[in-house]
Amino acid sequence: MKRAVNDTGRCVACGVCALQCPRGAINIYRGCFADVNTSMCVGCGICEKACPTGSITVRETEDTGI
Ligand code: SF4
Ligand code: SF4
Repeated sequence: MKRAVNDTGRCVACGVCALQCPRGAINIYRGCFADVNTSMCVGCGICEKACPTGSITVRETEDTGI
C-alpha cells in the first residue's frame, strides 16, 4: 500500500498539503508539522506534488490491515 510519509525535519507547517488532500488525511499538528492519518490516505500523491519543501512523499508501506 502506498501512503504519504512526512519527513518532519523538512516540514515548515505551511499547510499546503492539508489544503490539497482530497481525503482530509493531513492535519498540521500543533502548528509544527504535517501529520498524516495513514488510515485515511489513499496514496494519490497530490500532497507530494504540492509540498514546497519536498518534505512529504508517497512511499510503499506495509499494509497492517487496520
Ligand atoms: S497521498 Fe493523497 S490521500 Fe494521502 S495524504 Fe497525500 S494527498 Fe492525502
Ligand atoms: S506542504 Fe510540505 S512543508 Fe507544507 S505542511 Fe505539508 S509537508 Fe509540511
